[in-house]
Amino acid sequence: MGLEEYRGVYVFAQQVDNELSGIAFELLGKAKDLAKDLDTDVTAVLVGSDVKGLVDDLAKYGADKVIVVDDPELKEYRTEPYTYALASVINEYKPEIMLVGATAIGRDLGPRVSARVQTGLTADCTVLEIGDFPLRAIPGKEQKHNQLLMTRPAFGGNTIATIACPDNRPQMATVRPGVMQKIDPIEGAKAEVIEYNPGFTPDNKYVEIMDIVKSVTDTVDIMDAKILVSGGRGVGEEGFGMLKELAEVLGGEVSCSRAVVDNGWQPRDIQVGQTGKTVRPNVYFAIGISGAIQHVAGMEESDIIVAINKDETAPIFDVADYGIVGDLNKIVPALTEKLRAVVK
Ligand code: FAD
Repeated sequence: MGLEEYRGVYVFAQQVDNELSGIAFELLGKAKDLAKDLDTDVTAVLVGSDVKGLVDDLAKYGADKVIVVDDPELKEYRTEPYTYALASVINEYKPEIMLVGATAIGRDLGPRVSARVQTGLTADCTVLEIGDFPLRAIPGKEQKHNQLLMTRPAFGGNTIATIACPDNRPQMATVRPGVMQKIDPIEGAKAEVIEYNPGFTPDNKYVEIMDIVKSVTDTVDIMDAKILVSGGRGVGEEGFGMLKELAEVLGGEVSCSRAVVDNGWQPRDIQVGQTGKTVRPNVYFAIGISGAIQHVAGMEESDIIVAINKDETAPIFDVADYGIVGDLNKIVPALTEKLRAVVK
């Protein structure tokens, strides 16, 4: 593999029902930083059917080029044709870096594509940067420059590992939604559009989609909430009623720790943390949450963190901007009453 042939930072621009997913813009934001360090450009790979109308949005959020693979076979996401599409783009255009969202689609697609193009993939990265590998020079061992350094929690979140892929290309990583930040849109930006179709033959080995049933939910995605009132094991099952009241007064949403989900008190789609969602609200209330590393990984980027806990040594206080030590059963109702009076 001639590594020097591989150039550019590529992003899989996920779309569903011809609507770009937020992760596509977040990855473009990160790709722009990486491309600047490598003195190269950013390419979005847009795969679907009738998706050309989405190109300008990708340009607005940082894509210099968009490779469009447009084919009726790609209308709905299916593993086989999408893998073929993205692997063909990689083989044809040879990107140095390929970023994919760690969404349900990306988690299925990314590893398949990496295996098909014979490279590695680091899943669920929390930090991506360009640097030297090995990080510190080791006598007698070549130190390679301008490598993608992919950092992610390892060993159940007990340590943080930085991983590189020095001998294969592209360097592939998946990143969970909410971890990277999109850039402010550049109005009127245009991208170079490259239409590429490797040729799809309807294949009886493809999965056949008989029907699509969409789940309907009336809850707001916690990743979009500006204020989150998050409860942990200390709240107890009944205590979530109290948290809902506080959230209502503040115009926020309720979220929770994994202990709460594991106990069956709240649904998994409101879990914050390493195996839940990554959130960045303006205000995050951590109530009866100890602050385990796996929880903190999902909320430490919040603008303001308010912790309520009866144990003054709880690690949550290490990341909190404001801490209240005491019994949440007394503090939360009192806080709700005070705020109700102010908000009215
Ligand atoms: P606890 O740790 O039991 O803390 C309860 C807290 O409530 C305590 O600090 C206690 O002092 C306080 N408290 C109790 N009663 C009161 C009261 N009356 N008033 C005030 N305070 C009170 N966890 C996540 O949250 N999200 C994840 O995504 C996640 N992923 C994980 C992935 C892996 C691989 C592993 C191994 C673990 C993961 N965990 C995750 C679990 C994590 O390690 C912790 O076990 C979990 O976060 C603990 O939840 P908690 O803080 O609600 O409960």
